[in-house]
Parts: sequence; structure tokens; C-alpha cells
Amino acid sequence: MDTKILKIDTVEPQQSRIKEAARIVKSGGIVVFPTETVYGIGANAFDAKACANIFKAKGRPSDNPLIVTVCSLEQAEEIAEIPSQYIDTIKKLWPSPITFIVKAKAKFPKEVTAGLDTIAIRMPAHPVALSLIKEAGVPIAAPSANPSKKPTATSGSQCIKYFGGKVDCIIDSDEAFFGIESTILDLRTFTLLRPGPFTQEELKKVFGKEPTITKTTKGKQSEEIAISPGTKYAHYAPDTLLFLFEGKIGEMLDTIAQIENMPHFVFIGSSESCKLASEELGCSTIDLGKRSEPFKIAKNLYDSLIMLDSFKVKLGIIEAFDENGIGLAIMNRIRKASSHSSFSDSEGLLTLLIAEGLKS
Ligand code: AMP
Ligand code: MG
Repeated sequence: MDTKILKIDTVEPQQSRIKEAARIVKSGGIVVFPTETVYGIGANAFDAKACANIFKAKGRPSDNPLIVTVCSLEQAEEIAEIPSQYIDTIKKLWPSPITFIVKAKAKFPKEVTAGLDTIAIRMPAHPVALSLIKEAGVPIAAPSANPSKKPTATSGSQCIKYFGGKVDCIIDSDEAFFGIESTILDLRTFTLLRPGPFTQEELKKVFGKEPTITKTTKGKQSEEIAISPGTKYAHYAPDTLLFLFEGKIGEMLDTIAQIENMPHFVFIGSSESCKLASEELGCSTIDLGKRSEPFKIAKNLYDSLIMLDSFKVKLGIIEAFDENGIGLAIMNRIRKASSHSSFSDSEGLLTLLIAEGLKS
């Protein structure tokens, strides 16, 4: 398939190019476009065939529903039942990097809702995304732009690498501002299904009540039937094996130093931890940014996972971060990217290395 690449300015989107992309959406095509969180892979949310093509392009399991993006609260209210007690708050909040799960009003194809009677809905705070949805005149179903399980694309160039030849159009704009997917809040139960750039502390401030946080929110394995279907799948994983160290960096250095013939690995962590790991263990490192700038760490996370694969080693080790603020979203993604392979002492590390055939 020929993929049309459209360069569009983030701040002042060229309307002729927006119109061209909108025409593709209206005629049943797939358009990859930027939002303030990550890039999305979008199609007309009422077009079952177009939405089925999103699943095909992503290789996504069909029971994992899509987020529907809108350009106004009015458009949201046409298609979803927003609980009246939250309308005023949402009016103040939107557009922003937060997705709400509410009862669906309009009839969506099962490709969008996975057969649920609810819908995930968001108004992105990005001029290109908003103009595209407005011009298309329909809500756009747009999950994150990544092949299923892979780290999400946060730049136009990564979208071209992932989806060139597989979709009708890619809008190549600036890097996504946050670099991490939207917060998902189930408004029916006030449960935080997925932590994101709109933090749990901010949610409490604007809604005046604390969202419920579960094991699923933290990205920990959960025995419960997942409320948010996508949460049961492996996510964001690099091709390289990734272990998570749950503890302080000093303990990690000691733990690794105790392993005889430790296989080569790349360490991913904060600037401060990378410096220590490189000095004390002599390993290669991928620097996520200073600990004092957690939003930057979140923004760099997916690129660092993509970069890990370019080292051509068998193993990456990533450090854990505090779960305050955006840290909760960072740890949710890291837990999933490491497929829950975590260790906190040398015995745990040895067990993982042996299980993965990296040590006998
Ligand atoms: P993505 O846009 O790729 O980050 O994925 C969207 C996520 O939204 C999915 O993984 C689901 O977990 C969640 N989601 C979408 N629709 C619903 C829904 N109706 N109920 C609960 N979760 C949903
Ligand atoms: Mg996704």
C-alpha cells in the first residue's frame, strides 16, 4: 500500500493538508496522527471495516477495544452518556490527556467497543488532532500507534518505521509532548484503569475525590478479570529481554556485582543511576533523564525501549521509580514492558537468568 506522508505544523496546522487527511478518514482509510500523549492510528469510529483495518495494521487482539477521540464536549455527548455530575468538571478539563470510560449512547461497531456497552472517549489537546476530527466530522477511533505489544511511537519518524506501507496516511508532526498514553478513568466506578500524564493527584484535586487504584493500575499482574480489556495483554515490550530491578540503585549495583560471569546487558535508568552503573559495572547505559524531571523520564521511556534493541545484546535491566505523580504511569509501562520479570536480590536475578537460558 502507498502511504501518503503529510508534514503538518503542530501549532498552525495547514488546513489544506488537514482536509486531505480528513478526506481519507471519511472515505474509510487509516490516518496516523499526532496527539499530545502519543501518536494515534485512526479511522472513522462508525466504519466497522476501517476500524477492523486498525486491528490488522496493529496486529491487535480483537477483544481489546479502541479509544474514540472527539473534538468537543457536544460531540462526546452525542455518542456517550457522560454522567451529569461530572459535566462541569470535564468542561473545564478538556481537551487534556485523559480518557473516560462511560456508557455508550450511539451504536458503535463491535470493532470499537469489543462488544461492551461502554466507550472510551477523549478530546486530545493537540491542534492537528482536533482539526482533523473536526474536519472529518466524525469521531475518530484511535488507539496508540504501535504494532501490538511494541513500544508506542512518539514521533512521526517512528510511525513511518512502524506503519509505512501499512496505512493510507501518516501525519508527520513534532514529537508528542508527553510521550506516554492518556490516563484512563472509569467514570462509572471512579477507578483509574490506566495511569497517565493526568496524574492521580491532579484527578483528586479537580474531581474532589480520590480515584480507586488497583493492581491493574500499577501494571501488576492481577487475578481479577480486567475491567479494561487491554490490560491483560503484554505491552510496550522491546525485542530484547528486559528485567526490572525493584529497589534502590545501590542495592542493584551490589546485586549484579555478586553474579559471576554476568551476561552483557544494557542498563536503562535515570541520569544519576546511569552514571553509577557505568562507573561501577562498566555496562552500556540508556539515560532516561534526571530524577528531578519525571515527565522527561516518561517522555523518553518508549524511545529508550526502542533504542535498547539497537544494542544487539540479549538483556536490558531497567530501574524502578517512585510511584508518585507521573511515576505511577512510568511504573505501569515498565512493569508491562518487562513482562513482570523483576528481581530485588541476587537470588532473584539468578533465577531469572537461568529461566531465560542466559546462565546455566
Ligand atoms: P490504546 O489506545 O492502544 O492505548 O488502548 C486503549 C485502551 O483503552 C485499551 O487497551 C483498553 O484497555 C481501554 N479501553 C478502550 N475501550 C474501553 C472500554 N469500553 N472499557 C474499558 N477499557 C477500554
Ligand atoms: Mg496502546
